[in-house]
Amino acid sequence: MKVSEKVRVVVERLVPLYWDEHLYSNDPFRVLISTIISQRTKDEQTYGASERLLKAYPTPEAILEAGEEKVAEMIRNTGFYRQKARRIVKTCKMLIEKYGGKVPSTMDELLTLPGVGRKTAGCVLAYGFGKDALPVDTHVHRIANRLGFVSTKKPEETEMELKKLIPKELWRKVNLTLVRFGQQVCRPLKPRCGQCPVRDVCNWWRENKNETNSTHSGHNSHK
Ligand code: SF4
Repeated sequence: MKVSEKVRVVVERLVPLYWDEHLYSNDPFRVLISTIISQRTKDEQTYGASERLLKAYPTPEAILEAGEEKVAEMIRNTGFYRQKARRIVKTCKMLIEKYGGKVPSTMDELLTLPGVGRKTAGCVLAYGFGKDALPVDTHVHRIANRLGFVSTKKPEETEMELKKLIPKELWRKVNLTLVRFGQQVCRPLKPRCGQCPVRDVCNWWRENKNETNSTHSGHNSHK
């Protein structure tokens, strides 16, 4: 099967199962702050920390006024919380000084913010502004490689390759679809291949099925 055909099959099967329009925030500031908090942190912890912080300090001005210590206190259940608190305060300062207190809506502008890389910027564009963006995190990178969509080493390369393979109008659905699929089925260490709805088109399964049982494997070639 050609890669483009395989992509079409996977998107057709997974998007209806994992995409959820209701998870859109339409609030770029919330998406920006929660994506910074989410780095190396589980979803439940990210959600709780973001809610706490944004309830207490809902605007860039309020966060800047609160300062690093108070921000750190609000998100201290997440990894690297001091580093994140510093980034969040610096980001808010730049939003106020350079962008009139608003989150900018282009990739280039977002990348000028402290600690904001392509993945975070892509999430803000896709989930905050509803724009065509394809943020690639570790789930998307791992799954795209396992399925054989791409053969890449870095998430940035995966993003560029996937954009050539997936129609633009579907880009914004790919991240959330594959993140949820990666949390529930195609997990980093023990993918549940026995429950996988796209097993028949998966390179990783074809190459490893003899070493694994029908439900999972401990082997992992792409994290
Ligand atoms: S068959 Fe296994 S490795 Fe392949 S996509 Fe499904 S869960 Fe992931």
